Amino acid sequence: MISAEKLLAELIVLPTVNPAFLAPGHPWAGEKRAAEYLAAVAARGGLEVELEPAVSERPILLATCRPSGKVRQRILLAPHLDTVGGDENTEELFQPRKAGGRLFGRGACDTKGSAAAMMSALLDLAGNPGRPAHTEVVFAGLIDEENQQWGSRHLVARRFKADLGIVGEPTSLRVVTAHKGDLWLQLECRGRSAHGAQPARGQNAIHAMARVVASLETGYADFLKRRPHPLLGPATINVGVIEGGQQPNIVPSRCLIQVDRRTLPGETESSVRREIAGWLRRQGLVCSCKNAKPVECLPLATDPHLPLVRQFCEQAGQHEPRGVEYFCDASVLAHGGIPSVVFGPGNIAQAHTAREWISLRELEFARRLILRFLRSLP
Ligand SMILES: [Zn+2]
Repeated sequence: MISAEKLLAELIVLPTVNPAFLAPGHPWAGEKRAAEYLAAVAARGGLEVELEPAVSERPILLATCRPSGKVRQRILLAPHLDTVGGDENTEELFQPRKAGGRLFGRGACDTKGSAAAMMSALLDLAGNPGRPAHTEVVFAGLIDEENQQWGSRHLVARRFKADLGIVGEPTSLRVVTAHKGDLWLQLECRGRSAHGAQPARGQNAIHAMARVVASLETGYADFLKRRPHPLLGPATINVGVIEGGQQPNIVPSRCLIQVDRRTLPGETESSVRREIAGWLRRQGLVCSCKNAKPVECLPLATDPHLPLVRQFCEQAGQHEPRGVEYFCDASVLAHGGIPSVVFGPGNIAQAHTAREWISLRELEFARRLILRFLRSLP
């Protein structure tokens, strides 16, 4: 039986940086190496293995543990195999290093740690007595979570069904039933260009946009703070990009910004767009507003009273559901009809950092907790 620690070290050695963050054809790009490695390990351990083509050269690994009897329910274990790159794209990121009860390396906590804990638990389940009689368990090594979530979107599009999805993300071993959505908007102010020596003849689009930015970052942000969600706190807004003007002696005719608006359960992309447009109109500010993200990233709000969710929380010794700020595959799966929670070892504070690490105690704890939950199923 391969330990979670050994699996994780092997996974870190195989770079699986999301291709969106690298030059085309970069040797570190794509999840395939890790998917093929895990496929071999899973097949040796008696799981049924399939590499499902999702995006060209980026298959999703599906490894299934069949129950001893008739299938009555299905659990999906869904970590993602892609990682971010890093400012210092050095080889060092892919050399696992153990120190002080931690394992360092790219993906250690986001989310090769979850993948290792889940796969190791599933191999244990398949190879030992105590396998459920009527529950099928499927491990899905998802792709592209860090960019546009093509893995979970593919599963949903091909109508994959499960009674519970456990999405691997660093939650510090907490069962998470809610997270925020993420909407990107592009706002544009138009003006009229003129000679910089005669600014009164023109209409300065940058000045107009400066008022929009101030209003969003102060008045509108305060307005959001007044309606917090019980698990997620308030929605937030961040103006992250600004572009406008050509040179100092021309009155700029165009200025645009891109904003990141984290959304709460109950909000839709169009309701938020309408709210922002209405807010600015009431302040007498004129600008256009459109979506700036190619895919929808909706909030997650899974019912914590669903029997399987309750059962998983009990195994985790948790009485209250938790929420996290960050968006992940759980939302895509949930909106595609698979009730989903987020769970995994590691803390999101260590994800995407130059010295990413995971606590080996937490990794082992996650493996045991998942195994105990799977063994408790009928
Ligand atoms: Zn992640």
